[in-house]
Amino acid sequence: MVKKRRVKKSVKIIGSIFIIAIIFLIMLTNYLIKINSIDYKLKEKGYNDEEITSIKANLDENKINDIVKLEYDENLPKLISQKYFIYDKLNLYLDYSKENKLDAKKVISLVNANTYKDHYTDIVKTDTSLNELLIVNKYYQLSSDYEPEDLIEVPTMYAYSGIKLSNVAYEAFKELFNAAKSEGYTIVINSGYRSYDSQEAVYNRNKNNYGTTYADNFVARPGHSEHQTGLAVDVADYENSSEDFEKTEAYQWMLDNAHKYGFILRYPKDKEDITGYSFESWHFRYVGVDIATKIHSLDITYDEYYTYFIENK
Ligand SMILES: [Zn+2]
Repeated sequence: MVKKRRVKKSVKIIGSIFIIAIIFLIMLTNYLIKINSIDYKLKEKGYNDEEITSIKANLDENKINDIVKLEYDENLPKLISQKYFIYDKLNLYLDYSKENKLDAKKVISLVNANTYKDHYTDIVKTDTSLNELLIVNKYYQLSSDYEPEDLIEVPTMYAYSGIKLSNVAYEAFKELFNAAKSEGYTIVINSGYRSYDSQEAVYNRNKNNYGTTYADNFVARPGHSEHQTGLAVDVADYENSSEDFEKTEAYQWMLDNAHKYGFILRYPKDKEDITGYSFESWHFRYVGVDIATKIHSLDITYDEYYTYFIENK
């Protein structure tokens, strides 16, 4: 009898230990699952529920696992939810946000357009194989011997005399010209292709007369002018050529219609900090109808478009 009771007792003890061990294992597993969860890791870093929701909506798990290795940053949730956010540029966005009190949208624009850097720093040769989509700005340059292969002289019906353009831009401009003409506007080209040497002469003349700061605000350095691509035109309203182009109806017509023929206003108003150029109501750039239409509806600069839609792909 005594023996039986003892056996019963030890079975009870072993049973209890077994149950406790099971409970402990379940708790440990739950704990391990919890501390490895994305929410827990982000919370531990200091992100609140709203920020965590934003991070999870915009980044995949691998990227979030990288994020939790960084220090908490209040700018991060706002930056990653921006339309043109590029993950590979995250550290640039974070650093720039920290140094400058700017909203997230502006930070993304300036970093994507490279204008967060001093002008003419980290200059690279532009990819001319992109043809009408090649980019030229203060960070991407053309070599001194670059000349478009399809340069033609524009007939004086469409331009002042002696103006050359890339044929693809010329063909598109003719259509633009005719469309404008049918609505009563005579929009002519007063500057087209410029060689590296002629751009150098213009730049040096301005630099010698007015100093480097003035020259850089208004004139591109040689190799950095869109006019060397043969894809850019400066236009004028032939009927009101003495008038500031911005004040003419022809300018309004260009704003509303140029994209239908493949041209974009390259240096818009209020985007000087993004393009690095003063507003130029007269300077249009050929990029083809599809891209021009997209840029027109997205209302972004070509510098931003290039980084996000061309370079980033
Ligand atoms: Zn121009």
